[in-house]
Amino acid sequence: MKLPAPARVGIVGAGQLGRMLALAGIPLGLHCVFLDRGLDAPGAEVAPILVGDLQDPRLLAELASKSDVLTFDWENVPAPALAALGGDVLIRPAPAALEASQDRLREKALFSRLKIPVTPHAAIDSREDLDRALRRLGLPGVLKTRRLGYDGKGQFVIRRAGDVDPACAALGCTDLIYEKFQAFSLEVSIIGARAPSGECVYYPLSANTHADGILHYCIAPYRNASLERQARRYLRRVMEALDYVGVLAIEFFVVGGKLLANEMAPRVHNSGHWTIEGCVTSQFENHLRAICGLPLGSTRALGAAAMINFLGTMPDRGRLLQIDGLAYHDYGKSPRPGRKLGHCTILGARARDRDSALKMALKLISRT
Ligand code: AMP
Repeated sequence: MKLPAPARVGIVGAGQLGRMLALAGIPLGLHCVFLDRGLDAPGAEVAPILVGDLQDPRLLAELASKSDVLTFDWENVPAPALAALGGDVLIRPAPAALEASQDRLREKALFSRLKIPVTPHAAIDSREDLDRALRRLGLPGVLKTRRLGYDGKGQFVIRRAGDVDPACAALGCTDLIYEKFQAFSLEVSIIGARAPSGECVYYPLSANTHADGILHYCIAPYRNASLERQARRYLRRVMEALDYVGVLAIEFFVVGGKLLANEMAPRVHNSGHWTIEGCVTSQFENHLRAICGLPLGSTRALGAAAMINFLGTMPDRGRLLQIDGLAYHDYGKSPRPGRKLGHCTILGARARDRDSALKMALKLISRT
């Protein structure tokens, strides 16, 4: 007898990504339940939540008992905490995929093993390692924590010799990675989904602009047939190597017309928020479809989109909502400098191409 598709989805982490996953699950008839640290987590407004530490074995077990499948909006849950669930619940993507992305060094080793080019880099566990790396790779470079860095946190750009001591003081001199600073022409990301059957779908490329290490805006689809082919090939390699189920994102630097992988995210990704309004099936819905063993949906773009993050403060909602073709997303978070509080996507009708969509969106945001 064929087992029914999972209908109860446990989500570790109830940030904005979890919230948008739960919202996408409602029309599919899926019921999401979260685990996160506080009742004020963005997801808690849209689905039930267990409150406590994301690594708490008791709470993870309780979440598993309420779920047919477990997934994540935060990929840093330690493997032992997941291993303790001992096969009682489907975990998608599998813990091995999370582990591969939790450490920048392991992630780069995986990319290299799969013949996906990466930025020249070195492991740093002492000041001597750093001095050696500086001699080998030169300046400028970026010193990064291997684990738990996000949105530019845990990073220090070393431009000149005088930056080395402050960088070491800021990050410590162990469990780091030193990367050559890439003079890239562009940053792009690819997002795809893989079903348990091995079927893969890919979204069009997004061109991403960061400010201080945080994603500021995306334009998509970014049309470049050669880069798109490379990106799909690389994403497929990673998904197949990890026997991946769900949505996976890889961010790249474009250098000399070629892609260099910067990092991957074993989850839905900020550079895919435009797919909510901009594609037939959003990344959130396709992640749920994949992990629940439902047919994957079309990733076809419906037009040109520009997505802008609201960082630190929210804009004037009333004014933005007057704009035809603008979709507004408020995550319900309290303001803090640099924090991702929401985003908007401007789509198609008002923008004949991606450049005019972007120009319009940026003009709006700069007036907020
Ligand atoms: P990450 O946390 O590694 O995604 O870094 C955040 C952002 O910092 C990237 O999207 C780039 O804009 C910038 N960045 C990180 N590493 C490098 C590098 N090796 N060379 C140039 N820019 C970098």
